[in-house]
Amino acid sequence: MIFSFLIKSYTMKKTLAIVVLLLAALGAGGFAYLQWKASAGAKTEITTLTEKATTAEQKQGDVEKELEELKEKLGPLQVTAQQMEAVKAAFASGVTMKDLEAAYAKDKNLSAERLLGLAGVRLLTKGGQDPATVSAFEKALEMTDWTRQQKVICAAQYALAAAGKEVKPLSECAMPTQVAKAEGKTDDKSEADKKETSGAKKDDKHAAVHWDYEGLMGPENWGKEFPKCARGKEQAPLDIKGPFQKVRFSIAPDYKTGPLRILNNGHTIQVNVNPGSKLRIDGAPFELVQFHFHRPSEEAINGRRQAMVVHFVHKSSGGELAVLGVLLQMGNENPVIKTLWEHAPAKEGPEQQPEGVAFNPANLLPRELDFYHYDGSLTTPPCTEKVKFYILRSMVNISREQVAQFPFKMNARPLQPLNERVIMSN
Ligand SMILES: [Zn+2]
Repeated sequence: MIFSFLIKSYTMKKTLAIVVLLLAALGAGGFAYLQWKASAGAKTEITTLTEKATTAEQKQGDVEKELEELKEKLGPLQVTAQQMEAVKAAFASGVTMKDLEAAYAKDKNLSAERLLGLAGVRLLTKGGQDPATVSAFEKALEMTDWTRQQKVICAAQYALAAAGKEVKPLSECAMPTQVAKAEGKTDDKSEADKKETSGAKKDDKHAAVHWDYEGLMGPENWGKEFPKCARGKEQAPLDIKGPFQKVRFSIAPDYKTGPLRILNNGHTIQVNVNPGSKLRIDGAPFELVQFHFHRPSEEAINGRRQAMVVHFVHKSSGGELAVLGVLLQMGNENPVIKTLWEHAPAKEGPEQQPEGVAFNPANLLPRELDFYHYDGSLTTPPCTEKVKFYILRSMVNISREQVAQFPFKMNARPLQPLNERVIMSN
């Protein structure tokens, strides 16, 4: 009886140790929560073992050996319990909790794991008697579970799509939807996908496949969710430098004035464009879909990046993508940018269409349209390739103040290897 209890308790503790290690990997909050749970567990065990020991002492005789074993178990357990109490006391004052909340508040896109950690610490601080705290923790636990499952599902669907299979993706797997459409349809995100993604984000913070320009979800880790970003051989942006291969064709924009449709999609300021504006590339028409900004410029020329770049994203009737890039160099105030910034939302949200504001994207172009040209990719996940880039040699000005007003401090992907490509120029 006592022996079997010991085995059970040993197995339980081993399992607990594994869980604590796992939680430690997830974040301090989760770890602290488990320690707190372990503390409670250890205390129960001490009580049980003490009771058993008392009973055993009374019986004496053949249980003496087991009694020794029990005493051996008691020592380490008491130490563990003391350590757990210390951890709990550190959080109980609320100061550690406050620090943690402040640190997390700076990060607007907390992962489900981090939210779970935070919920764990709240539970630790406020105690398991508060039903609201407990339910918040359970919700966070559910979310982490779901996020993990969803990652697996999305990865599988993404792999199937990449292998050319027809996939009916989960609405949460926003990026694979795009890949399933093959070879990308617009630049950084198609309009339809954008709506899907931002809608999903609003309803459910953890639903969209999340990426960023720094931290755990930064460019060096995009490849984990979006294999092309890591393994593609024709990725963008590039450091543009000679020798260049001469091409003889030219590009001719024919952009029309239309209503200003502007949004902050969480990664950039984007302006959506009504049908009718075209870019002719060697005579072939490409429809302008949207344009957006990066700070600093994603492309470098001879290793040097500019203050910003605007990417005009076009699509042919066959679904081929072409990006016209205009580098924005530090200089005088740009009146066209001024109009845009006046209406650019500071926070992520749906498209805005300010009443009575007409805009012609052609006003952002320099007079000279000589270009560098190469085959590249979307510069954001899923990094789909076969995107034609035309980066203008001539730049336009933007003032220091205007750069500072752009709501993203850094939204440029690092330079990508040239590999077998040759950069062309006209
Ligand atoms: Zn771009």
